[in-house]
Amino acid sequence: MKIAKVIVDVASNQTDRPFDYLIPALWTETARRGMRVIVPFGPRKVQGFIVDVTDTTDVGKLKEIESFLDVTPVINEELLKMSYWLADQTLCFRISALQAMLPAAMKSKYEKVITLADCSELNDLPDNLRPFFKDQRIVKWKEIEQVKGIITDVQRAVSLHLLEIIYVTKAHTKKKTIRTIEPVSTEKLTQGMQGLSKHAKKQIQVVEYFIENPNAIPLAQLVNTLNTTDAPVKALIEKGLLKETSEEVYRDPFQNRTFKKTERLDLTEQQQRALNPINETVENNKHEVFLVYGVTGSGKTEVYLQAIEAVLEQGKEAIVLVPEISLTPMMVERFKGRFGDQVAVLHSALSAGEKYDEWRKILRKEVKVVVGARSAIFAPFENIGIIIIDEEHESSYKQEENPRYHARDAAIYRGEYHRCPVILGSATPALESFARAQKGVYKLLSLTKRIQAREMPKVEIIDMREELHSGNRSMFSTRLFDQLKDRLERGEQSVLFLNRRGFSTFVICRDCGFVIECPHCDISLTYHKRGHQLKCHYCSYEQSMPTVCPECSGEHIRFFGTGTQKVEEELAKVLPEAKVIRMDVDTTRKKGAHEKLLTAFGQKKADILLGTQMIAKGLDFPDVTLVGVLAADAMLHIPDFRASEKTFQLLTQVSGRAGRHKLPGEVVIQTYTPEHYSVTAAAQHDFDRFYEQEMLLRKRVQYPPYYYITLITVSHPEVTKAAGVTDKIAEFLRSQLSSQAIILGPVTSAIARVKDRYRYQCMIKYKSEPNLLEALHAIMERYKQEISRSELQVSIDLNPYMMM
Ligand code: ADP
Ligand code: ZN
Repeated sequence: MKIAKVIVDVASNQTDRPFDYLIPALWTETARRGMRVIVPFGPRKVQGFIVDVTDTTDVGKLKEIESFLDVTPVINEELLKMSYWLADQTLCFRISALQAMLPAAMKSKYEKVITLADCSELNDLPDNLRPFFKDQRIVKWKEIEQVKGIITDVQRAVSLHLLEIIYVTKAHTKKKTIRTIEPVSTEKLTQGMQGLSKHAKKQIQVVEYFIENPNAIPLAQLVNTLNTTDAPVKALIEKGLLKETSEEVYRDPFQNRTFKKTERLDLTEQQQRALNPINETVENNKHEVFLVYGVTGSGKTEVYLQAIEAVLEQGKEAIVLVPEISLTPMMVERFKGRFGDQVAVLHSALSAGEKYDEWRKILRKEVKVVVGARSAIFAPFENIGIIIIDEEHESSYKQEENPRYHARDAAIYRGEYHRCPVILGSATPALESFARAQKGVYKLLSLTKRIQAREMPKVEIIDMREELHSGNRSMFSTRLFDQLKDRLERGEQSVLFLNRRGFSTFVICRDCGFVIECPHCDISLTYHKRGHQLKCHYCSYEQSMPTVCPECSGEHIRFFGTGTQKVEEELAKVLPEAKVIRMDVDTTRKKGAHEKLLTAFGQKKADILLGTQMIAKGLDFPDVTLVGVLAADAMLHIPDFRASEKTFQLLTQVSGRAGRHKLPGEVVIQTYTPEHYSVTAAAQHDFDRFYEQEMLLRKRVQYPPYYYITLITVSHPEVTKAAGVTDKIAEFLRSQLSSQAIILGPVTSAIARVKDRYRYQCMIKYKSEPNLLEALHAIMERYKQEISRSELQVSIDLNPYMMM
């Protein structure tokens, strides 16, 4: 009798342990740790992971495993072990940890098929398998499964790469197009309008929409915006006023491109000095964490590339993490250019099916390098020789849902396991990382000079209060405007950066000061121009823009704040001759749009690139000689102890976009707080000064890196309940932790209500608390019944990055 211990896909405290199941006779030889199965669980059938196979059980009457999803493990031994660690460290369920390691397609509905591998022939197969593949390369799993004794043969054939198991996911089979609607011509529209019956209100509404917005729009979006149905659109297509086209949506942006092969560059002395110790650890199979602190344009990426080259020569594998936002085609090109087909890319812009395809290449050892966002840290390599985290200070490396892990910690875990180096790279390292490098916990490798001694751009700070005093009410200071004009005349390009975070377009009544808020969350609604809608960014509540103030019935209700659209309009007014490309979430929603816009800018089809956070990083255009920052302090006032650090990082990154090539660059920073050290230090490219000032502050207010913090957030529809539970938790912690731990709270969270739930929090600051994890697990244990039965939610975030 063989028994499998299975972690089931039911995320609750009661089910967060392995359950015993009988392995069906057919599978006794084949079942392995790390395979997925379907098991009966209560009245349901659920997915599960085998975490162990044994001969004994304490359970009297065992249920049998219903079916197997894999014939070979999809989670290897290392990752299985890591899932325990992850669950423990982040207080998540084991099932959440396991699922975080697999691509989404493997969690969804799919059909399992077996195919003859590309390079194998029918004759290579054992006799009993051959008949299935005589007339076809693909066989449905169901057809094979029932044949006695065959699974071991399938398993063997899979491990010999003769056969492959493939999950045909929904994403694969889904039609890869969306329907978009656009007017045949504006003349037709206006003419057609007259022919419409007065009663055809819906059709008139659609025509009016297109007269105002003549561009193509996805049908679903149109219907949604106008709050209508397909019917009027169809009628107008039949009348010849509108036309429908199908647009491809799921397309691998990299698939059909050939990458120009690049060769290793001769390193500068500084680069060589950074590479040597890394290569040494690779050769000696040693774990070490390096912090590559190098100014923008100092050639960090070339160092990564050559370190990887050495790793590949040893027959080992490399993981490169890049923040989602800078995982641009430009970035991918640098790796594919050097290592060609050996590179897999894991990127959120890929469809679930495409991501799964890339992941499969890793599992089958067809690639040696993976370049990807946060979750690529779980790439199922088995012989890792280096892990690189570029822009290591980026907060997107912390996952904000369960498991709440930081990619840096996960990387160090795997680096220790594989005894290989972990490289953290940044021009503006996180304070925590730099402090560790100063203490010698990490090895510091500095690149202080830009390649070919290019000058750092000259940065000017413009005090926007003075602009206002001198009568300039425009969003462009006189200086920035003059500079933009100057670039236009010289035929050079500019980048304009608008920091949107904390600067969204809220709606306020100028008469009474009333701000329109979400009825479910304590946060103001954001104005969206399309369809004049107000939206809540926390719960996606939507309403239309009112014409009068709901409070005082005044008519002076307006939206405030500056969005990229508004800047674009303003540019059109003051610099009508300038061609502008706008990049923000709205213009890059469609797949491939990001790349298209950047390519157009690279081909000099526009003079100005205007955008949000997404243009702050990684861009490298030779003719950009001016960078303008419209509102440097937008992020300085968010309720987060990292506000200054984030401001400094962002300003430094943006400034780094100018003058990266032959032409020298200039930067203009507009701000209302020109004296703030995060602004002045960024203007002087002075990380050290910023670091010193900020460290003093952090020490005084007892924040990281001097203290660790853990944030506990409790939410409940009743305010007293939320406050009461938080109070009990705080009290419990006071009794469990040492007198050195500082326990703050309960206090209301910065956003006190989300989705009709009141939010309270308790913050723990500590230097060393060996009992902390145990105490936190005890809290979850104490409330587990209540959480599963009532509306109570308790979330625990170790080393949080979101303080709201
Ligand atoms: P960083 O990642 O530090 O911002 P990059 O790696 O992007 O810097 O390098 C900046 C530019 O310098 C790139 O265009 C790169 O190709 C070039 N470069 C890097 N190293 C060398 C070198 N040793 N010789 C010549 N050019 C180099
Ligand atoms: Zn809301």
